[in-house]
Amino acid sequence: MSSDCLFCKIAAKQIPAKIVHEDADVFAFEDIHPQSPTHVLVCPKKHFASLKHAGTEEEAVLGKVALVAAKIAKERNLGSYRTVINTGSEAGQTVFHLHLHLLGGRAFHWPPG
Ligand code: AMP
Ligand code: ZN
Repeated sequence: MSSDCLFCKIAAKQIPAKIVHEDADVFAFEDIHPQSPTHVLVCPKKHFASLKHAGTEEEAVLGKVALVAAKIAKERNLGSYRTVINTGSEAGQTVFHLHLHLLGGRAFHWPPG
């Protein structure tokens, strides 16, 4: 836990969020500013800032994050969906606790811009 991290505080239930999945290693909650009908953030409970900060010890939890996103997408009957991990502020990262965006329920364009 990083004491000044918003998502660590959500994991610790110190800040409210609409949690949609929780297990020993991963939690997921509704994004506060949804960009699509489904917009869920999937996070490891262990704090690390971004993919740049991940080492081989994060290999398993990164796989779990991806599989939790797929599970939530399946529960919501999303035939197509987009998963995004922004890394670094120029890529759009604003919260520096690794998270995967699960976006679904509308069409998406490519390239993403
Ligand atoms: P990123 O810009 O990739 O770092 O994504 C951060 C995401 O966190 C954004 O989509 C925000 O809307 C979302 N967010 C920020 N604060 C909260 C919060 N308190 N609860 C839920 N989602 C949040
Ligand atoms: Zn954190």
